[in-house]
Amino acid sequence: MRALALDLDGTVYRGSEAVTGAVEALDRLFRAGCHLRYATNNSAAQPSAVAAKLQGLGIPCEPVWVYGTGPLTARYCASQSHTRVFCLGEPGLKETLSDSGIELSDDGASAVVVGIARQATYADLATAARLIRAGAEFIATNRDATYPLEEGKLEPGAGALVAAVEVASGRAPVTLGKPETGLVGWILDDLQVRPEDLLVVGDRLDTDIECGRRAGCPTWLTLTGVEDELPAGQPGGATLMELADSLLGR
Ligand SMILES: [Mg+2]
Repeated sequence: MRALALDLDGTVYRGSEAVTGAVEALDRLFRAGCHLRYATNNSAAQPSAVAAKLQGLGIPCEPVWVYGTGPLTARYCASQSHTRVFCLGEPGLKETLSDSGIELSDDGASAVVVGIARQATYADLATAARLIRAGAEFIATNRDATYPLEEGKLEPGAGALVAAVEVASGRAPVTLGKPETGLVGWILDDLQVRPEDLLVVGDRLDTDIECGRRAGCPTWLTLTGVEDELPAGQPGGATLMELADSLLGR
């Protein structure tokens, strides 16, 4: 069985546009019987919305193929018995947490969840830091420094806000997204495949490729996002078309 864990931002799309080669390559891989799974550090991404977006671009996807740090954070909170958390995040992350039964409040919160939060204010930062200093667990959905958009634009990612909370609270977070192995481990469990049989594909060395390495999976770097050259010895190519060619032949 061929299984792929594909990053989304910068790997499959940038903003609302598919990256060069992604539609044709993923269609070819799917038709050849590859299991496509999508692993995104974007905590605002909800599986149903991601699947609808990919389908709209002509890319094969079902909601259950999407693994994001929002649902991963909900699972982690449940495992740590956090029933009330303060969340610095986009509406998508807040909805994911409240849909899983977690109450969102700063009053008596046992954890502070920080993801990308474009509407965050100085007051939110102050609340997060105060709760963490008082003993709440500090949970970062991910620490990506930047977030790739259309036309090569890079905006500040969740990592920029996580760093602000870290400085203000004096505490380091537990980080759930890539390069940590939670998302990939979840895919391995669901597919029941060995790490060596899951190819981890992404556009960032410090998150996607490092995650694959830590999980014991082979990796493939695409140059459609953050990185613009292949380090010596790193499998990869300019676009996902080279990946389809290397797995399926031309
Ligand atoms: Mg990416």
